[in-house]
Amino acid sequence: MKCPICRSGETRPGKASSLLERGGVTLVFQEVPADICENCGEEYFSEETTDRLLKLAEEAVRSGVRVAVRQYAAAVPE
Ligand SMILES: [Zn+2]
Repeated sequence: MKCPICRSGETRPGKASSLLERGGVTLVFQEVPADICENCGEEYFSEETTDRLLKLAEEAVRSGVRVAVRQYAAAVPE
């Protein structure tokens, strides 16, 4: 798709990191599937991916984790 941020680049499928902060908990997910703008580097996660990230974050909060770095593929059961 055309990048809505810079309006000149096209996005391409790739992998990106996502940082989430919820209730004093900091989580980083690596290797998250994303569409990345070839011009400005903006990363776009699909609605499905965003939902999964938020669920994973909530699980981490409940388990008492304060800071964590995780591989997205390993954290999401298929
Ligand atoms: Zn862009």
